[in-house]
Amino acid sequence: MLVYKFGGTSLGTADRMKSVADLILSDPRQKIVVLSAVSGTTDNLIKLSNSDIQNGDILLQEMVKQYKDYVAGLLSNEACITSAKEFLGETFHSLRTALHQQKPNDEKWFVAFGEFISTSLFSFLLIERGVNSAYLPALDFMRSVEGEPDLGQISILLKNVLEAFEPKDVYVTQGYICRNENNQTDNLRRGGSDYTATIIGAVLKAEEIQIWTDIDGVHNNDPRIVQGTRAIEKLSYAEAAELAYFGAKILHPLCVRPAREAGVPIRLLNTLNPTATGTLIDKENPMSQGGAKAVAAKDGITAINIRSSHMLMAHGFLRKIFEVFEIHKTSVDMITTSEVAVSLTIDDDRNLENIVNDLKDYGTISVEKDQTIICVVGSFGKDEMAAAVKVLLPLQNIPIRMISSGGSASNISILINAKYKKDALEALNKGLFAIG
Ligand code: ADP
Ligand code: ASP
Ligand code: MG
Repeated sequence: MLVYKFGGTSLGTADRMKSVADLILSDPRQKIVVLSAVSGTTDNLIKLSNSDIQNGDILLQEMVKQYKDYVAGLLSNEACITSAKEFLGETFHSLRTALHQQKPNDEKWFVAFGEFISTSLFSFLLIERGVNSAYLPALDFMRSVEGEPDLGQISILLKNVLEAFEPKDVYVTQGYICRNENNQTDNLRRGGSDYTATIIGAVLKAEEIQIWTDIDGVHNNDPRIVQGTRAIEKLSYAEAAELAYFGAKILHPLCVRPAREAGVPIRLLNTLNPTATGTLIDKENPMSQGGAKAVAAKDGITAINIRSSHMLMAHGFLRKIFEVFEIHKTSVDMITTSEVAVSLTIDDDRNLENIVNDLKDYGTISVEKDQTIICVVGSFGKDEMAAAVKVLLPLQNIPIRMISSGGSASNISILINAKYKKDALEALNKGLFAIG
Protein backbone atom coordinates (compact mmCIF):
# COMPACT_ATOMS: atom_id res chain seq x y z
CA MET A 1 0.00 0.00 0.00
CA LEU A 2 1.14 3.53 -0.83
CA VAL A 3 -0.21 6.76 0.65
CA TYR A 4 -0.48 9.76 -1.65
CA LYS A 5 -1.35 13.21 -0.29
CA PHE A 6 -2.22 16.21 -2.45
CA GLY A 7 -2.39 19.75 -1.07
CA GLY A 8 -4.75 22.57 -1.95
CA THR A 9 -2.71 24.09 -4.77
CA SER A 10 -2.43 20.70 -6.47
CA LEU A 11 -6.24 20.75 -6.62
CA GLY A 12 -6.63 24.48 -7.29
CA THR A 13 -8.34 24.05 -10.67
CA ALA A 14 -10.30 21.28 -12.38
CA ASP A 15 -7.34 20.71 -14.73
CA ARG A 16 -5.01 20.27 -11.77
CA MET A 17 -7.37 17.72 -10.22
CA LYS A 18 -7.41 15.85 -13.53
CA SER A 19 -3.58 15.84 -13.52
CA VAL A 20 -3.68 14.42 -9.99
CA ALA A 21 -5.87 11.57 -11.27
CA ASP A 22 -3.44 10.96 -14.19
CA LEU A 23 -0.58 10.93 -11.75
CA ILE A 24 -1.97 8.37 -9.31
CA LEU A 25 -3.23 6.15 -12.12
CA SER A 26 0.23 6.06 -13.72
CA ASP A 27 1.38 3.98 -10.72
CA PRO A 28 -0.34 0.56 -10.65
CA ARG A 29 0.31 -0.06 -6.93
CA GLN A 30 -2.63 -0.04 -4.51
CA LYS A 31 -2.97 3.30 -2.74
CA ILE A 32 -4.85 5.55 -0.35
CA VAL A 33 -5.19 9.10 -1.64
CA VAL A 34 -5.49 11.81 1.02
CA LEU A 35 -6.77 15.15 -0.24
CA SER A 36 -6.79 18.65 1.27
CA ALA A 37 -9.46 21.16 0.38
CA VAL A 38 -9.12 23.10 -2.89
CA SER A 39 -6.83 26.08 -2.13
CA GLY A 40 -8.73 29.01 -0.63
CA THR A 41 -11.71 26.92 0.47
CA THR A 42 -10.60 26.35 4.08
CA ASP A 43 -10.01 30.11 4.48
CA ASN A 44 -13.44 30.81 2.97
CA LEU A 45 -15.15 28.33 5.28
CA ILE A 46 -13.47 29.84 8.35
CA LYS A 47 -14.70 33.23 7.16
CA LEU A 48 -18.16 31.82 6.57
CA SER A 49 -18.41 30.34 10.06
CA ASN A 50 -17.60 33.77 11.52
CA SER A 51 -19.81 35.79 9.12
CA ASP A 52 -23.16 37.42 9.72
CA ILE A 53 -25.99 36.08 7.54
CA GLN A 54 -25.77 38.80 4.89
CA ASN A 55 -22.01 38.52 4.25
CA GLY A 56 -22.14 34.77 4.64
CA ASP A 57 -24.79 34.49 1.91
CA ILE A 58 -22.63 36.55 -0.46
CA LEU A 59 -19.62 34.32 0.23
CA LEU A 60 -21.72 31.19 -0.25
CA GLN A 61 -22.92 32.46 -3.63
CA GLU A 62 -19.29 32.97 -4.71
CA MET A 63 -18.41 29.45 -3.61
CA VAL A 64 -21.42 27.94 -5.39
CA LYS A 65 -20.30 29.66 -8.61
CA GLN A 66 -16.66 28.58 -8.11
CA TYR A 67 -17.62 24.92 -7.70
CA LYS A 68 -20.17 24.98 -10.51
CA ASP A 69 -17.37 26.05 -12.87
CA TYR A 70 -15.02 23.51 -11.28
CA VAL A 71 -17.44 20.63 -11.98
CA ALA A 72 -17.98 21.87 -15.53
CA GLY A 73 -14.22 21.69 -16.13
CA LEU A 74 -13.77 18.38 -14.32
CA LEU A 75 -16.43 15.94 -15.47
CA SER A 76 -17.85 14.98 -18.83
CA ASN A 77 -20.03 11.94 -18.04
CA GLU A 78 -23.70 13.05 -17.64
CA ALA A 79 -24.50 10.72 -14.74
CA CYS A 80 -21.38 11.85 -12.85
CA ILE A 81 -22.18 15.52 -13.52
CA THR A 82 -25.71 15.03 -12.16
CA SER A 83 -24.40 13.27 -9.03
CA ALA A 84 -21.78 15.98 -8.47
CA LYS A 85 -24.39 18.73 -8.83
CA GLU A 86 -26.71 16.97 -6.39
CA PHE A 87 -23.86 16.57 -3.93
CA LEU A 88 -22.91 20.26 -4.19
CA GLY A 89 -26.59 21.28 -3.84
CA GLU A 90 -26.88 19.31 -0.57
CA THR A 91 -23.52 20.57 0.69
CA PHE A 92 -24.30 24.24 0.17
CA HIS A 93 -27.80 23.72 1.57
CA SER A 94 -26.25 22.36 4.81
CA LEU A 95 -23.80 25.25 5.00
CA ARG A 96 -26.55 27.83 4.35
CA THR A 97 -28.80 26.29 7.00
CA ALA A 98 -25.97 26.33 9.56
CA LEU A 99 -25.12 29.94 8.68
CA HIS A 100 -28.73 31.01 9.19
CA GLN A 101 -28.92 29.19 12.52
CA GLN A 102 -25.74 31.02 13.63
CA LYS A 103 -24.60 28.17 15.82
CA PRO A 104 -21.74 29.23 18.08
CA ASN A 105 -18.40 27.41 18.09
CA ASP A 106 -18.89 25.42 14.93
CA GLU A 107 -15.90 26.60 12.88
CA LYS A 108 -14.55 23.06 12.84
CA TRP A 109 -17.84 21.70 11.54
CA PHE A 110 -17.77 24.31 8.72
CA VAL A 111 -14.16 23.79 7.62
CA ALA A 112 -14.59 20.03 7.26
CA PHE A 113 -16.68 20.71 4.14
CA GLY A 114 -13.57 21.81 2.23
CA GLU A 115 -12.20 18.27 2.36
CA PHE A 116 -15.67 16.69 1.86
CA ILE A 117 -16.01 18.63 -1.38
CA SER A 118 -12.56 17.91 -2.83
CA THR A 119 -12.70 14.19 -2.05
CA SER A 120 -16.25 13.80 -3.37
CA LEU A 121 -15.44 15.54 -6.64
CA PHE A 122 -12.27 13.48 -7.01
CA SER A 123 -14.27 10.29 -6.39
CA PHE A 124 -16.74 11.27 -9.16
CA LEU A 125 -13.76 11.75 -11.47
CA LEU A 126 -12.42 8.28 -10.63
CA ILE A 127 -15.88 6.77 -11.23
CA GLU A 128 -16.03 8.55 -14.59
CA ARG A 129 -12.67 7.01 -15.47
CA GLY A 130 -13.84 3.55 -14.44
CA VAL A 131 -11.29 3.17 -11.63
CA ASN A 132 -11.89 0.41 -9.06
CA SER A 133 -12.04 2.86 -6.14
CA ALA A 134 -13.72 3.49 -2.79
CA TYR A 135 -14.49 6.59 -0.75
CA LEU A 136 -13.40 6.35 2.92
CA PRO A 137 -15.02 8.98 5.18
CA ALA A 138 -12.18 10.16 7.43
CA LEU A 139 -14.63 10.82 10.26
CA ASP A 140 -15.22 7.04 10.42
CA PHE A 141 -11.65 6.38 11.55
CA MET A 142 -9.64 9.56 12.33
CA ARG A 143 -9.90 10.10 16.11
CA SER A 144 -8.30 12.66 18.40
CA VAL A 145 -8.05 12.91 22.15
CA GLU A 146 -7.20 16.24 23.81
CA GLY A 147 -6.39 17.72 20.42
CA GLU A 148 -3.90 15.04 19.36
CA PRO A 149 -4.53 12.10 17.02
CA ASP A 150 -5.09 8.78 18.77
CA LEU A 151 -3.09 6.33 16.67
CA GLY A 152 -4.29 3.28 18.60
CA GLN A 153 -7.96 3.97 17.85
CA ILE A 154 -7.21 5.12 14.29
CA SER A 155 -5.37 1.90 13.55
CA ILE A 156 -8.25 -0.32 14.70
CA LEU A 157 -10.97 1.75 13.04
CA LEU A 158 -9.16 2.19 9.73
CA LYS A 159 -8.45 -1.53 9.43
CA ASN A 160 -12.15 -2.25 10.13
CA VAL A 161 -13.24 0.29 7.52
CA LEU A 162 -10.89 -1.20 4.91
CA GLU A 163 -12.03 -4.74 5.65
CA ALA A 164 -15.61 -3.73 4.85
CA PHE A 165 -14.67 -3.44 1.15
CA GLU A 166 -13.58 -5.89 -1.48
CA PRO A 167 -9.97 -4.82 -2.19
CA LYS A 168 -9.83 -1.65 -4.30
CA ASP A 169 -7.05 -0.13 -6.39
CA VAL A 170 -7.59 3.37 -5.00
CA TYR A 171 -9.11 4.57 -1.74
CA VAL A 172 -9.91 8.27 -1.37
CA THR A 173 -10.13 10.05 1.97
CA GLN A 174 -10.08 13.49 3.56
CA GLY A 175 -6.98 14.93 5.13
CA TYR A 176 -7.04 17.26 8.14
CA ILE A 177 -10.40 16.33 9.69
CA CYS A 178 -11.15 13.99 12.57
CA ARG A 179 -13.59 13.35 15.40
CA ASN A 180 -12.64 14.20 18.96
CA GLU A 181 -13.39 12.30 22.18
CA ASN A 182 -16.80 14.01 22.34
CA ASN A 183 -17.68 12.76 18.88
CA GLN A 184 -17.54 16.29 17.45
CA THR A 185 -15.95 17.16 14.13
CA ASP A 186 -12.44 18.42 14.81
CA ASN A 187 -9.21 18.83 12.85
CA LEU A 188 -5.45 18.41 13.08
CA ARG A 189 -4.82 22.18 12.70
CA ARG A 190 -3.84 24.10 9.59
CA GLY A 191 -1.88 22.08 7.07
CA GLY A 192 -3.10 18.92 8.84
CA SER A 193 -3.58 16.80 5.72
CA ASP A 194 0.15 16.01 5.80
CA TYR A 195 -0.39 14.65 9.30
CA THR A 196 -3.37 12.53 8.19
CA ALA A 197 -1.22 11.03 5.43
CA THR A 198 1.66 10.13 7.73
CA ILE A 199 -0.71 8.72 10.36
CA ILE A 200 -2.41 6.50 7.78
CA GLY A 201 0.97 5.49 6.33
CA ALA A 202 2.21 4.63 9.82
CA VAL A 203 -0.78 2.60 11.02
CA LEU A 204 -0.94 0.63 7.77
CA LYS A 205 2.87 0.29 7.61
CA ALA A 206 2.71 1.61 4.06
CA GLU A 207 5.57 1.14 1.62
CA GLU A 208 5.93 4.92 1.27
CA ILE A 209 4.07 8.17 1.99
CA GLN A 210 4.18 10.57 -0.93
CA ILE A 211 3.34 14.20 -0.17
CA TRP A 212 2.68 16.05 -3.42
CA THR A 213 2.72 19.84 -3.37
CA ASP A 214 3.62 22.86 -5.51
CA ILE A 215 7.40 22.79 -5.05
CA ASP A 216 10.01 20.12 -5.77
CA GLY A 217 10.69 19.01 -2.19
CA VAL A 218 12.03 20.54 0.99
CA HIS A 219 14.27 23.48 0.14
CA ASN A 220 17.35 24.47 2.12
CA ASN A 221 15.73 27.78 3.11
CA ASP A 222 12.31 29.42 2.96
CA PRO A 223 11.65 30.02 -0.76
CA ARG A 224 8.98 32.61 0.07
CA ILE A 225 11.66 34.83 1.61
CA VAL A 226 15.05 33.90 0.20
CA GLN A 227 15.99 33.71 -3.47
CA GLY A 228 18.06 30.88 -4.93
CA THR A 229 17.01 28.15 -2.49
CA ARG A 230 17.54 24.53 -3.55
CA ALA A 231 15.68 21.26 -2.99
CA ILE A 232 17.38 18.80 -0.64
CA GLU A 233 17.52 15.22 -1.93
CA LYS A 234 17.64 13.43 1.44
CA LEU A 235 16.79 14.29 5.01
CA SER A 236 16.79 12.09 8.09
CA TYR A 237 13.55 11.88 10.07
CA ALA A 238 15.22 13.92 12.83
CA GLU A 239 16.25 16.70 10.44
CA ALA A 240 12.85 16.83 8.74
CA ALA A 241 11.03 16.83 12.08
CA GLU A 242 13.07 19.82 13.29
CA LEU A 243 12.48 21.73 10.04
CA ALA A 244 8.75 21.04 10.10
CA TYR A 245 8.41 21.96 13.76
CA PHE A 246 10.46 25.14 13.34
CA GLY A 247 8.51 26.61 10.46
CA ALA A 248 9.15 24.92 7.08
CA LYS A 249 5.57 25.31 5.89
CA ILE A 250 5.86 22.49 3.36
CA LEU A 251 5.29 19.99 6.21
CA HIS A 252 2.78 20.10 9.09
CA PRO A 253 4.81 20.72 12.28
CA LEU A 254 4.18 17.24 13.74
CA CYS A 255 3.72 15.08 10.67
CA VAL A 256 7.14 13.44 10.61
CA ARG A 257 6.65 11.73 13.99
CA PRO A 258 4.25 8.89 13.01
CA ALA A 259 6.28 7.99 9.92
CA ARG A 260 9.49 8.02 11.92
CA GLU A 261 8.08 5.77 14.62
CA ALA A 262 6.75 3.30 12.04
CA GLY A 263 9.88 3.55 9.86
CA VAL A 264 7.91 4.50 6.75
CA PRO A 265 9.75 6.79 4.30
CA ILE A 266 8.18 10.08 3.24
CA ARG A 267 8.82 11.41 -0.24
CA LEU A 268 8.00 15.03 -1.11
CA LEU A 269 7.17 15.59 -4.75
CA ASN A 270 5.93 18.36 -7.04
CA THR A 271 2.64 17.99 -8.92
CA LEU A 272 3.73 20.82 -11.24
CA ASN A 273 6.98 18.97 -12.06
CA PRO A 274 6.34 15.27 -11.37
CA THR A 275 9.67 14.03 -12.70
CA ALA A 276 11.76 16.14 -10.30
CA THR A 277 13.60 14.00 -7.71
CA GLY A 278 12.02 15.72 -4.70
CA THR A 279 13.08 14.97 -1.14
CA LEU A 280 13.28 11.58 0.53
CA ILE A 281 12.87 11.56 4.31
CA ASP A 282 14.18 8.33 5.79
CA LYS A 283 16.41 6.86 8.47
CA GLU A 284 19.71 8.51 9.30
CA ASN A 285 22.33 7.72 6.69
CA PRO A 286 25.59 7.08 8.59
CA MET A 287 27.56 8.02 5.47
CA SER A 288 25.82 11.37 5.08
CA GLN A 289 28.00 14.44 5.29
CA GLY A 290 28.07 16.59 8.39
CA GLY A 291 27.26 20.28 8.54
CA ALA A 292 24.23 22.45 7.87
CA LYS A 293 21.59 21.24 5.42
CA ALA A 294 18.68 23.64 5.77
CA VAL A 295 17.29 26.64 7.60
CA ALA A 296 13.72 27.37 8.73
CA ALA A 297 12.08 30.13 10.74
CA LYS A 298 9.21 30.04 13.19
CA ASP A 299 7.40 33.30 13.88
CA GLY A 300 5.10 34.43 16.66
CA ILE A 301 7.50 33.46 19.44
CA THR A 302 7.41 35.02 22.91
CA ALA A 303 10.55 35.02 25.06
CA ILE A 304 10.20 34.94 28.84
CA ASN A 305 13.10 35.76 31.14
CA ILE A 306 13.08 34.78 34.82
CA ARG A 307 15.75 36.53 36.88
CA SER A 308 16.42 35.37 40.39
CA SER A 309 19.64 36.26 42.18
CA HIS A 310 19.63 33.56 44.84
CA MET A 311 17.34 30.74 43.81
CA LEU A 312 18.28 29.85 40.29
CA MET A 313 20.72 27.06 40.76
CA ALA A 314 19.04 25.69 43.84
CA HIS A 315 17.83 22.20 43.08
CA GLY A 316 14.18 21.97 42.18
CA PHE A 317 14.04 25.52 40.85
CA LEU A 318 13.72 24.59 37.18
CA ARG A 319 11.09 22.02 38.05
CA LYS A 320 8.96 24.70 39.70
CA ILE A 321 9.29 26.93 36.65
CA PHE A 322 8.36 24.15 34.24
CA GLU A 323 5.42 23.20 36.42
CA VAL A 324 3.95 26.63 35.73
CA PHE A 325 4.04 25.91 32.00
CA GLU A 326 2.59 22.46 32.55
CA ILE A 327 -0.30 23.84 34.62
CA HIS A 328 -1.10 26.31 31.84
CA LYS A 329 -0.75 23.62 29.12
CA THR A 330 1.91 25.57 27.25
CA SER A 331 4.96 23.93 25.75
CA VAL A 332 8.42 25.44 25.82
CA ASP A 333 10.52 25.44 22.64
CA MET A 334 13.92 26.88 23.58
CA ILE A 335 15.67 27.30 26.91
CA THR A 336 18.94 28.90 28.01
CA THR A 337 20.28 29.35 31.53
CA SER A 338 22.86 31.43 33.38
CA GLU A 339 23.67 31.65 37.05
CA VAL A 340 21.09 34.34 37.64
CA ALA A 341 18.48 33.89 34.92
CA VAL A 342 16.56 31.46 32.74
CA SER A 343 15.21 32.44 29.32
CA LEU A 344 12.70 30.34 27.49
CA THR A 345 10.34 30.64 24.56
CA ILE A 346 6.74 29.70 23.84
CA ASP A 347 4.77 29.86 20.61
CA ASP A 348 1.32 29.77 22.18
CA ASP A 349 0.75 32.89 24.26
CA ARG A 350 -2.93 32.33 25.08
CA ASN A 351 -2.10 31.78 28.76
CA LEU A 352 0.77 34.24 28.94
CA GLU A 353 -0.79 36.48 31.58
CA ASN A 354 -1.43 33.58 33.96
CA ILE A 355 2.03 32.13 33.30
CA VAL A 356 3.71 35.46 34.08
CA ASN A 357 1.63 35.90 37.24
CA ASP A 358 2.60 32.47 38.53
CA LEU A 359 6.27 32.90 37.60
CA LYS A 360 6.47 36.09 39.66
CA ASP A 361 6.75 33.88 42.76
CA TYR A 362 10.19 32.81 41.53
CA GLY A 363 11.86 36.00 40.33
CA THR A 364 11.60 39.11 38.20
CA ILE A 365 9.90 38.39 34.90
CA SER A 366 10.33 40.15 31.57
CA VAL A 367 8.56 39.29 28.34
CA GLU A 368 9.51 40.01 24.74
CA LYS A 369 6.98 39.33 22.00
CA ASP A 370 7.45 39.21 18.18
CA GLN A 371 10.48 36.99 18.28
CA THR A 372 11.52 34.45 15.64
CA ILE A 373 13.35 31.17 16.08
CA ILE A 374 15.80 30.48 13.28
CA CYS A 375 16.50 26.78 13.16
CA VAL A 376 19.55 25.43 11.32
CA VAL A 377 19.28 21.72 10.65
CA GLY A 378 21.99 19.25 9.72
CA SER A 379 24.39 16.79 11.29
CA PHE A 380 26.13 18.53 14.15
CA GLY A 381 27.68 15.55 15.92
CA LYS A 382 29.74 16.20 19.02
CA ASP A 383 32.95 15.69 17.06
CA GLU A 384 31.89 18.06 14.29
CA MET A 385 34.42 20.90 14.13
CA ALA A 386 33.25 24.51 14.48
CA ALA A 387 29.62 23.72 13.67
CA ALA A 388 28.28 26.56 15.80
CA VAL A 389 30.90 28.98 14.50
CA LYS A 390 29.84 28.30 10.90
CA VAL A 391 26.21 28.97 11.81
CA LEU A 392 26.89 32.10 13.86
CA LEU A 393 29.48 33.75 11.63
CA PRO A 394 26.99 34.81 8.92
CA LEU A 395 24.84 36.36 11.68
CA GLN A 396 27.54 38.67 12.99
CA ASN A 397 25.48 41.78 12.17
CA ILE A 398 22.26 40.52 13.71
CA PRO A 399 21.47 40.88 17.43
CA ILE A 400 20.99 37.39 18.84
CA ARG A 401 18.70 36.98 21.85
CA MET A 402 19.24 33.27 22.58
CA ILE A 403 21.32 30.38 21.19
CA SER A 404 20.55 26.71 21.67
CA SER A 405 22.99 24.05 20.55
CA GLY A 406 23.68 20.52 21.73
CA GLY A 407 20.08 19.60 22.56
CA SER A 408 20.17 17.28 19.58
CA ALA A 409 22.83 16.57 16.98
CA SER A 410 20.56 17.82 14.21
CA ASN A 411 19.63 21.34 15.30
CA ILE A 412 21.17 24.68 16.24
CA SER A 413 18.51 27.31 17.07
CA ILE A 414 18.82 31.04 17.41
CA LEU A 415 16.25 33.51 18.73
CA ILE A 416 16.12 36.95 17.14
CA ASN A 417 13.64 39.79 16.95
CA ALA A 418 11.23 39.11 14.07
CA LYS A 419 12.32 42.30 12.29
CA TYR A 420 15.72 40.69 11.53
CA LYS A 421 14.24 37.47 10.10
CA LYS A 422 14.69 38.21 6.40
CA ASP A 423 18.26 39.47 6.91
CA ALA A 424 19.10 36.44 9.03
CA LEU A 425 17.71 33.93 6.51
CA GLU A 426 19.52 35.63 3.64
CA ALA A 427 22.79 35.85 5.55
CA LEU A 428 22.61 32.17 6.46
CA ASN A 429 21.84 31.23 2.88
CA LYS A 430 24.91 33.05 1.68
CA GLY A 431 27.13 31.89 4.53
CA LEU A 432 26.11 28.23 4.59
CA PHE A 433 24.94 27.29 1.13
CA ALA A 434 26.53 29.65 -1.43
CA ILE A 435 28.07 27.66 -4.27
CA GLY A 436 31.66 28.36 -5.26
P1 ADP B 1 0.07 22.23 0.20
O1 ADP B 1 -1.10 23.10 -0.12
O2 ADP B 1 0.44 21.30 -0.91
O3 ADP B 1 -0.04 21.55 1.53
P2 ADP B 1 1.80 24.22 1.38
O4 ADP B 1 1.50 25.61 0.92
O5 ADP B 1 1.29 23.83 2.72
O6 ADP B 1 1.32 23.21 0.26
O7 ADP B 1 3.38 23.97 1.38
C1 ADP B 1 4.14 24.25 0.22
C2 ADP B 1 4.77 25.62 0.32
O8 ADP B 1 5.64 25.68 1.46
C3 ADP B 1 5.66 25.98 -0.82
O9 ADP B 1 4.93 26.53 -1.89
C4 ADP B 1 6.65 26.98 -0.20
O10 ADP B 1 6.31 28.29 -0.51
C5 ADP B 1 6.49 26.79 1.29
N1 ADP B 1 7.75 26.52 1.99
C6 ADP B 1 8.16 27.12 3.13
N2 ADP B 1 9.35 26.65 3.52
C7 ADP B 1 9.71 25.71 2.61
C8 ADP B 1 10.87 24.88 2.46
N3 ADP B 1 11.87 24.88 3.33
N4 ADP B 1 10.90 24.06 1.39
C9 ADP B 1 9.88 24.01 0.49
N5 ADP B 1 8.79 24.78 0.58
C10 ADP B 1 8.69 25.62 1.63
N1 ASP C 1 -7.33 22.34 4.18
C1 ASP C 1 -6.55 22.44 5.41
C2 ASP C 1 -5.82 23.77 5.46
O1 ASP C 1 -6.00 24.59 4.58
C3 ASP C 1 -5.63 21.29 5.60
C4 ASP C 1 -4.46 21.21 4.64
O2 ASP C 1 -4.40 21.94 3.66
O3 ASP C 1 -3.58 20.38 4.88
O4 ASP C 1 -5.12 24.01 6.42
MG1 MG D 1 0.33 22.17 3.51
